[in-house]
Amino acid sequence: MYEIKAVGARQIFDSRGNPTVECVIKTGFGRFKASVPSGASTGTREAVELRDGGKEFNGLGVSRAVQNVNEILSVVVKGRDCRRQKEIDSLLVKEDGTPNKSKLGANALLSVSLAAAKAGAAAENMELYDYISELSSRNPLMPVPALNIINGGKHAGNSLDFQEYQVLPVGFKSFKEAFSAGVEVFHQLKKNLEKNYGRSAINVGDEGGFAPQLRKVEEPIDEILKAVESVGYAKEMVIGLDVAASSFFMGGKYLIEKKSLGIVSMLEEYETLLKYYPIASIEDPFAESDYHAWEEIVKKLGKRVQILADDLTVSQEALVAEAIRRNRANALLLKVNQVGTLTEALESAALAHNSNWNVQVSHRSGETNGTFIADLAVGIGCGQIKSGAPCRGERLAKYNRLLEIEESSGALFAGRKAFKPK
Ligand code: PEP
Ligand code: MG
Repeated sequence: MYEIKAVGARQIFDSRGNPTVECVIKTGFGRFKASVPSGASTGTREAVELRDGGKEFNGLGVSRAVQNVNEILSVVVKGRDCRRQKEIDSLLVKEDGTPNKSKLGANALLSVSLAAAKAGAAAENMELYDYISELSSRNPLMPVPALNIINGGKHAGNSLDFQEYQVLPVGFKSFKEAFSAGVEVFHQLKKNLEKNYGRSAINVGDEGGFAPQLRKVEEPIDEILKAVESVGYAKEMVIGLDVAASSFFMGGKYLIEKKSLGIVSMLEEYETLLKYYPIASIEDPFAESDYHAWEEIVKKLGKRVQILADDLTVSQEALVAEAIRRNRANALLLKVNQVGTLTEALESAALAHNSNWNVQVSHRSGETNGTFIADLAVGIGCGQIKSGAPCRGERLAKYNRLLEIEESSGALFAGRKAFKPK
């Protein structure tokens, strides 16, 4: 019953219409399916997505990754007990044999790893979040959703330099209340943007947030806070940013609002933002290789605000360890496809948690309708998830799964303390 009987993959398409990998694992308990997301503002040290190259799909086909699952990885995991996640993942990693999973592709490996976890949960007759909770030895907790309601940077066709402007509904008793309030803010923001900037301002970006033609860094925050106030949640909501600074770092300077800023000026910019706005989280405030700048911001602001590492650490344990040692952030953004197996992602999260860092589970800008990360966020009890705006099916799939989990699990809502730096 427990043994993996068959493994098969196919090419499907993500929310940007780019090819990605879907894997199906068969056991005596049924068929278990998982798919792989894809980023646009990627860190250079992420595990490698194997793409076909050539003309078709602009080189983004995944037929080689699919073939690697069907012909190589399937042989490796067939006959294994689906409840042995660690063993399965280490076999996958060993078969690839490269430090960055460039031989078989992290997309190939991850599709198998996630499908195996679903098979394992079913074999134990457990919900996936409970299964992950056992794997990670953490208590389930409902996360605060970081709702990215204004998109910029590489995720939108506007002129905003910062990539994500999130509203964080922290002051509620349940995920359901928090999320519903976030939805109200989203709709109020839509009305305001349309009234103030015209219909084109309510077009949405890759993650479902609006992509108005604003230019100044703080303008989206003003708009979000106006919407928050008019629906009456000024006390319950705070702001999160993903600056994604690697995307406008050129020649050692940060190019924002047509200015070229050094580290000191960028730090002043963040200090000013914190002075005037209720900001609880800043992701990727500096470029992935600008280590000194990360150390400076943690020294200056790390007690007051969550400094969240994405491109800096790319969910990989060795890079997380280095960032912890050097005090370069105080929180980890966890994206399973940056590393390539569930076990490795859980190890990175455990290291962060054990070092008193916060952890936020994250989608990618190119997503499928898979809901694995909803269970992951609850299962590792990290208290935070980002899955874009409450708009676009692939973003809502995760939030709707969280509504379902809250009903069945009775897990508590993380609330305000989830974002407090420790
Ligand atoms: C991010 O940068 O945090 C993000 C979700 O975007 P992408 O998937 O494009 O890296
Ligand atoms: Mg990011």
